[in-house]
Amino acid sequence: ADAAVVPALVIGTGYGGCVTALRLAEAGVDVHMVEMGMAWDTPGSDGKIFANTTTPDQRSFWLRTKTKQPLSNFLGFPIDKSIPRYTGVLDAEEFAGITVYQGRGVGGGSLVNGGMAVTPKRETFGEILPSVDPAEMYGTYYPRANAELGAALVRPEWFESTAAYQYARVGRKHAQRSNFPYVFVPTVYDWDYMEQEEAGTVPESALAGEILYGNNHGKKSLQKTYLPKIRATGRVTISALHRVVSVVPASGGYLVTIEQLDTTGGVVATKQVTAAKVFFAAGSVGTSKLLVKLKATGALPNLNGEVGAGWGDNGNVMCGRANHLWDPTGSLQSAIPTLGIDNWAAGGAFAEVAPLPTGFETFASFYLSITRTPNRARFTWNPATNKVDLSWQTEWKQVSIAAAKTIFDKINSKEGTIYRTDLFGVYKIWGDHLTYHPLGGAILGRATDNHGRLHGHPGLYVVDGALIPGTTVVNPFVTITALAERNIARIIATDF
Ligand code: FAD
Repeated sequence: ADAAVVPALVIGTGYGGCVTALRLAEAGVDVHMVEMGMAWDTPGSDGKIFANTTTPDQRSFWLRTKTKQPLSNFLGFPIDKSIPRYTGVLDAEEFAGITVYQGRGVGGGSLVNGGMAVTPKRETFGEILPSVDPAEMYGTYYPRANAELGAALVRPEWFESTAAYQYARVGRKHAQRSNFPYVFVPTVYDWDYMEQEEAGTVPESALAGEILYGNNHGKKSLQKTYLPKIRATGRVTISALHRVVSVVPASGGYLVTIEQLDTTGGVVATKQVTAAKVFFAAGSVGTSKLLVKLKATGALPNLNGEVGAGWGDNGNVMCGRANHLWDPTGSLQSAIPTLGIDNWAAGGAFAEVAPLPTGFETFASFYLSITRTPNRARFTWNPATNKVDLSWQTEWKQVSIAAAKTIFDKINSKEGTIYRTDLFGVYKIWGDHLTYHPLGGAILGRATDNHGRLHGHPGLYVVDGALIPGTTVVNPFVTITALAERNIARIIATDF
């Protein structure tokens, strides 16, 4: 046990964790960040840190012996394969009714995500965080988040001319022909770098299909934005391959128990540290699982009954459309999506035109839709299995499918095309088994106060996607970052 008391311990190194650690350190507070995934700073035997989407290996998945790719099949063939069990970067975490994909490592979801940096329209903000003043978010915290993350739009002339976005231009054309509004979506990819990739002057990254299992060059993950600033403060220690398993009240704050892992997931040491304040930034699922377990097992008995409640999937549902032979989507597809179809107002769906970076012509248009859904699940502690369960039901996705159909049935009818039935199984149209956007489980203003202070235990905070009640209407990481910026500003001003 460490005798010294850490002023602030942050569990997790994703968006919420990085914002919190940076602002605390800038305010003069020493911070210890604990991350169960790897550091992702050392190349493998192929000279690359991360594996390619088309050739997943042990680096690609968190503690699985077989890949679990979001698209499980292609042209009727299952594509998953055996891999060595390893602390890889993408976790396909399975609950009874849904698989939740999450990033694992220093940088959290920023390591694996598509980089779409979307600020919701101000008119929809009341649907997302009704207790938060939109004026402060749109005046201060969304601009701050977008600036720190480096969100930017594609250069229009290049978008129109490059082979790498033919799939997006086809997606736009079909949206336009069916009178759907479309939007260009800012991303955190370095657009100059992508243009250089096409020119052949730098190593290919987005144009080599690097997404999902990490990006080796152009994507401005947290490794290129908040984390270098965090290190530059000199006040933050980051322990990778360390997992927090318990937080209990103790004199001076909280006693935190941490397991050190090896790269096969084995526990090699158990450590304890006392922290004056603890910030839960383990992601919606990670934070919810910890809090639900700690309440149920009596470690944090005063947490209220809202802990574990209000979890949603951001209405995620995927589908593909089969295009005519005269509408090829291209054998070269940038892995970074940058166009969305916005039918939120009329049909409750915002669909990103997504790549299928297979390296060959698929004649398929592929979409990830974010939809309006009322369904919310709850995390509960299961003493029989010593695990946390999630009450999500697969059938609940039917609402999301209906919303997505408001876009794609119309496009199919206009174009005389059909849905692909080979991407998620055999004769299965909808990718309704998963989410990339877990949100909620410790909702702002319910499990916590209006700035993330957990009710019942002073000095404990939630700072990540667990605060958001199940939807952000668009892709979530800009909102998670902006909310963390808002909350930590208040917490530093009043609690330190
Ligand atoms: P996370 O980023 O999930 O970070 C939590 C961290 O905590 C992780 O590193 C985890 O390993 C660690 N952790 C968990 N439990 C513990 C523990 N007990 N001890 C120590 N550490 C722990 N969003 C967008 O806005 N745009 C996109 O284009 C986009 N694409 C996506 C594509 C994919 C494939 C995926 C999986 C997600 C995508 N997302 C996207 C979602 C986005 O990445 C997440 O919403 C975001 O990362 C959540 O941020 P967070 O701070 O809540 O937690």
